[in-house]
Amino acid sequence: MILIVDDDRFMREAFQEVLREAGFITAMAADGASAVSSFTALQPDLVLLDLNLPVMDGFEACRQIRATVAGKYTPVLMVTGMDETDLIHRAFDAGATDFIAKPVNPELLVYRVRHLLRAGRNMKDLAESEDRLRMLKEAVDCLPIGITLSDVDGRIVYSNPAEAEIHGYRVEELFGREARLFARHDRRKPFPPEQLDNIGVWKRESVNIRKSGEEFPVQLTSIAVRNADGGCIGIVTACEDITGRKEAEKRIYHLAYNDPLTGLPNRGLLLNRLQQAVALASREERKVCLLFLDLDNFKDFNDTQGHDFGDKLLREVAGRLAAGMRESDTLARLGGDEFVVVLTSVTGQECAAAAAQRILSAFSRPFVIDGRQIYSSASIGIALYPDDGLDTESLFKCADTAMYHAKNEGRSHYRFFSAEMNQSIMRRMALENSLRQGLERHEFFLHYQPLWDLKTAAMVGVEVLLRWQSADFGLILPSEFIALTEDTGLIYGMGEWVLRAACIQAGNWAAAGRRGVKMAVNISGKQLTQPDFPAMVARVVRETGIEPGALELEFTESVIMEQPDKISDTLRALKKMGIRLSIDDFGTGYSSLNCLKHFPIDRIKIDRSFVAGLCRDNDDAAIVRAVICMAHSLNMKVLAEGIENSDQLHFLTELGCDEAQGFYLAMPMAAEDLAVILGGTHGKEAAMLPVTEWFDNRPVLAG
Ligand code: C2E
Ligand code: MG
Ligand code: MG
Repeated sequence: MILIVDDDRFMREAFQEVLREAGFITAMAADGASAVSSFTALQPDLVLLDLNLPVMDGFEACRQIRATVAGKYTPVLMVTGMDETDLIHRAFDAGATDFIAKPVNPELLVYRVRHLLRAGRNMKDLAESEDRLRMLKEAVDCLPIGITLSDVDGRIVYSNPAEAEIHGYRVEELFGREARLFARHDRRKPFPPEQLDNIGVWKRESVNIRKSGEEFPVQLTSIAVRNADGGCIGIVTACEDITGRKEAEKRIYHLAYNDPLTGLPNRGLLLNRLQQAVALASREERKVCLLFLDLDNFKDFNDTQGHDFGDKLLREVAGRLAAGMRESDTLARLGGDEFVVVLTSVTGQECAAAAAQRILSAFSRPFVIDGRQIYSSASIGIALYPDDGLDTESLFKCADTAMYHAKNEGRSHYRFFSAEMNQSIMRRMALENSLRQGLERHEFFLHYQPLWDLKTAAMVGVEVLLRWQSADFGLILPSEFIALTEDTGLIYGMGEWVLRAACIQAGNWAAAGRRGVKMAVNISGKQLTQPDFPAMVARVVRETGIEPGALELEFTESVIMEQPDKISDTLRALKKMGIRLSIDDFGTGYSSLNCLKHFPIDRIKIDRSFVAGLCRDNDDAAIVRAVICMAHSLNMKVLAEGIENSDQLHFLTELGCDEAQGFYLAMPMAAEDLAVILGGTHGKEAAMLPVTEWFDNRPVLAG
């Protein structure tokens, strides 16, 4: 559509006729003002504008048309007189696109119009795409990810500010340089040109390098840019610095696979590693060793010293264990006080045993926690691949079972798994189940084992030993069930019952004329650490009327060593009541006599393992001699446990041991059987004889 503006009606119609004939649509205006309003209303593709117009001249009309949005690129063809050069200047200033002089040649007019229309369209397209380009550049400039355009030779045509900043450059520094300057040397693979045509989107993680030389992980996405024929003209690469993401991934991995308290691998990671180790070992026909480690008495630490203390101990233990590991070993924490070690370079049992021994010896030094020295120990169960199991689950089970057995054998032991262990675990579970029933059915009773004075050969008291005559299992000894009562908490009620029954028995003997038979009652560590333990003992003493001096409580040294402060008060309270105290199984724990001197101990009982070795092992003899000597200098009496023959008896008498107990002297027995000794005159007569002679002539007792 062409807008024809002329005040001369004749001219307007002439133009109209020519243009219509050439196939254009036309509109007309007779003055400048109506030219502007017609233009806005009709938005023609070209304006044919006369200069001399009424109301508003052609220059002004042109200026106003140009000022409208639609008129920015619309060609305006001015119609001028012949020699009006200065007018032409003004017309161009006003925004005219071209001019044509009167008189107008109609054919020329049509060509001129056609040419201007085509040029106008191009101009408009160009301007529009320039605008779009500007907008795109703005957008890319403010993108937070790096963008680089490179040509087919790999030279940078454009990098946005983010790209420059990520890599530590200024934008101006980058133009014309090789795009591969961003990549770490080993990642600068030359990109074969033929491949440019094949790639669509190429996504990858890589390592880039900053101007400073610092390396950092990136996520790169490259796209080939193609021309209208489909040929590659360059590459656009988007680059994201993924340092944060990588760190988060690492943290998440660490959280998922490590124990937060100690930083050691957790169960999940351990299982992975064990699986790998087993797979590798099966290919190479090698062994894998799984060690299950559980701290002894950790629960007591935790309960009495608080969880914070317990946590610190676990961290210390973890650190000490980790220090002893080899690169190829895995140390993990399963939770609680359970740790696991996987050894991949073991050749057999000896090798595994050496490793276990090494781990145990890590506990020989005390741990220092909150400025205090703490002794801890561990029990270890060992399972070997392929000997004990072929998959991780059965290996775990075997090592766990073996650990359980090590625990039952006392502290600081390691045990290999064996098939019989499973049976004994089953038995333990069955026993645990019938324990309560046993209590209800009154299946528990007491035996008494005489304690003898080695100088006078007089029976000076008895040790009270608990027995369980189970309807399901027959006679069961305390070594099998005491730990169960401790685990189930039944020990508290049971312990009180034993104490009360023993005191009542002492009363019965007294009533029968045998006063002052010393009753030695075993007390579990669990009982002793109960805050109301002294009060309970006081109540039983009061209610049964036993002479406090005739009551002796036996407990092991480990209880004292673990919680010295707490136990000290308890022992003092008991001592104040007039009750006697003795250390049982002395020599099996970690205490020294020097430590014990701070506690009000009357007697120590040397463990029967030393007595057993006495006549054949020089070390045992030396230890027993030293213990007797030191105990005497600390005003403590010494009793030797487990005398099984006359050689031991003689030796101990020579060493100056005060008292003795053992199968050779008398078996543990029921109260009625003991009445034979108590009731007879034998004890009195015996006191007159030399000790060895007396024992050789002692009455044959039950058992
Ligand atoms: P213990 O206090 O060291 O008791 C001595 C143990 O040695 C008893 O075993 C006794 O039968 C055994 N024995 C005595 N003479 C000999 C000997 O010549 N050779 C050998 N091989 N053994 C001898 P028992 O009765 O099986 O008790 C084992 C442990 O169970 C006791 O060791 C004690 O720690 C604990 N125990 C027993 N009764 C009770 C109880 O009422 N309460 C608590 N908490 N523990 C108890
Ligand atoms: Mg005892
Ligand atoms: Mg003992």
